[in-house]
Amino acid sequence: MMRWQLRNWWRGNKRVPVVLMLEPLHTCNLACVGCSPERYSGDLRNRLPLSNCFDAVEVCGAPIVSVCGGEPTVYPEIVELVDGLIARRKHVILCTNAILLDRFYRKARPHKRLAINVHLDGMRTTHDFVVDRPGVFDRAIEMIAEGKRLGYYVSTNTTVYRETSVDEIEEMCALLTELDVDGILLSPGYHYEAIEGDAHFLFRDEIHEKFKRIVALTQRYPKISSTPLFLQFAAGMRDYPCTPWGNPTYTPQGWKDPCYLIGNRYYGSWTEFFGGVDWDYWESRRDPRCHNCKMHSGFEPSVVRKLGDSLADVLTMARWQMANVRNTKRRVAA
Ligand code: SF4
Repeated sequence: MMRWQLRNWWRGNKRVPVVLMLEPLHTCNLACVGCSPERYSGDLRNRLPLSNCFDAVEVCGAPIVSVCGGEPTVYPEIVELVDGLIARRKHVILCTNAILLDRFYRKARPHKRLAINVHLDGMRTTHDFVVDRPGVFDRAIEMIAEGKRLGYYVSTNTTVYRETSVDEIEEMCALLTELDVDGILLSPGYHYEAIEGDAHFLFRDEIHEKFKRIVALTQRYPKISSTPLFLQFAAGMRDYPCTPWGNPTYTPQGWKDPCYLIGNRYYGSWTEFFGGVDWDYWESRRDPRCHNCKMHSGFEPSVVRKLGDSLADVLTMARWQMANVRNTKRRVAA
């Protein structure tokens, strides 16, 4: 990551992708309340061929690839895809609902560049409500435990909805700490104009209220691995411009303008996409759909981008990074 950042700084590149959000398919075995039909109702036959995935990875250059979708374990070539990304020296985050994770475990192997990231939106009642199917929470917990037993780096990814109480988030953090997960990512499910009337999403003030309490939780649960500065941002304690180019999204329809969430239009080529999107506009958050947004894929890169502005922030991030390194060393030694 450091090499990538330094190389781009040396070349004078102002906008640098950090995490490629790779959606090899829009087929899913769930239809969660927070998801758009575009993301889960796709035909498996319309999935990206492996060669397109690898071409996108090469041309984008980001050192981290987050494989999402759709549900990536439904992608028939998922093991070949992960192996190919590792062979290209990428850090891979496999985002999954865990229902078919045992199928992946049977064919794949743990690797220091691979993280399994299990979707878990709270405890049993909330999670099964959000994914609209009973039993999914129990399955996710079972697969987290199995991943840890097999030696994988296993983290979780939680969207905090209106239905989610912070007490419940604390209960979930306690359970995940007991399971010895390697990281707990927390991010707000926010309300935007295009989904007006949807009761599940949070408005900005509600996000701040919940995340102020979540910031306090990080003292008791060091496994919470969202960066401390992002959590402060989610709690309304600091502000950032958006950095949508930090996490570009590649899908079966092409490169998505401008971000993981909003699909204004799609581009066939990286050059057209990266040079064609009005990044100044999207960074400014002037668009009505951006007003309440606190999405980690838009703002975690902003934390990195704005780090040089404050020595105190650099020290906060250095302490956080050291804690992560210690955690990783302990895991590798075990
Ligand atoms: S503010 Fe949110 S919705 Fe707007 S471009 Fe950034 S990530 Fe996308």
